[in-house]
Amino acid sequence: TIIPERRPEWLRIKAPKGENYQNLKTLMRGQSLHTVCEEARCPNIGECWSHKTATFMILGSVCTRSCGFCAVDTGRPLGLDWEEPKRVAEAVQQMGLRYAVVTSVNRDELKDGGAGVFASTIRWIKRLNPECKVEVLTPDFKGVREALQVVIDAKPAVFNHNVETIPRLYRTVRPQAVYERSLQVLKWSKEMNPAIATKSGFMLGLGETTDEVLQVMRDMREHDVDILTIGQYLRPSFKHLPIQRYVPREEFEALKIEGQKMGFRHVASGPFVRSSYHAHEQADDATRE
Ligand code: SF4
Ligand code: SF4
Repeated sequence: TIIPERRPEWLRIKAPKGENYQNLKTLMRGQSLHTVCEEARCPNIGECWSHKTATFMILGSVCTRSCGFCAVDTGRPLGLDWEEPKRVAEAVQQMGLRYAVVTSVNRDELKDGGAGVFASTIRWIKRLNPECKVEVLTPDFKGVREALQVVIDAKPAVFNHNVETIPRLYRTVRPQAVYERSLQVLKWSKEMNPAIATKSGFMLGLGETTDEVLQVMRDMREHDVDILTIGQYLRPSFKHLPIQRYVPREEFEALKIEGQKMGFRHVASGPFVRSSYHAHEQADDATRE
């Protein structure tokens, strides 16, 4: 079957509005900051920025991996910028963020996979912005436990690492990743510091079956994942994996209910859901006793 590239009505992007959004936009223009919100042209930007949430991309814009769904360039990244953590923290301050998400490309050429810069960024944000919660969305650090430990020791509020899809599709979706290794990293985070909420997610529309999806959700719970995010895969360009299906809202709703039954503390599931969408609410739910 050929899936039309024209998006169904519920996936059309609305122009962002809101006073906060406009203010932040002006602020960002004056700095050389990289937010995923802007660069991935995230459909939620108006809403997130109005709620004082944003996602920063650290460690450069070239990735050592080549996932089939991702628009980031693959290649050999440049050296490390140890000033970056402070600049991100200052941006968080200027934007008055209440919730900052920090993510990165994969840096498989580095021994620590960039963990040191992640940790420094968490510490700088907390130092300059004591009220702001920090979530990290990290690579798998090739399963190097010591690298993960460095990040966890900096005490983010939430540790997020996405499995992205069901294991059968890894060969094309995440060719350099290993499903079990990603689950292991999530479990390690929980073992290292149970007070840090763990979070993971995947996309729908890449050719997965419902049974396969439910199995991934059970695997996540077995690895103590607290927060689950499920969104629709949207193809960044014609060079990327095709969309197999636009998943209707009812299916996202049904998975949310299943997830709640399985014991996730928060499930965000819907066509527009991204890792960091409504992240502050997810974190509130997961940390509430
Ligand atoms: Fe930015 Fe994430 Fe919100 Fe998109 S969902 S606007 S990437 S914080
Ligand atoms: Fe994109 Fe992350 Fe895959 Fe790199 S590892 S290609 S940044 S999804």
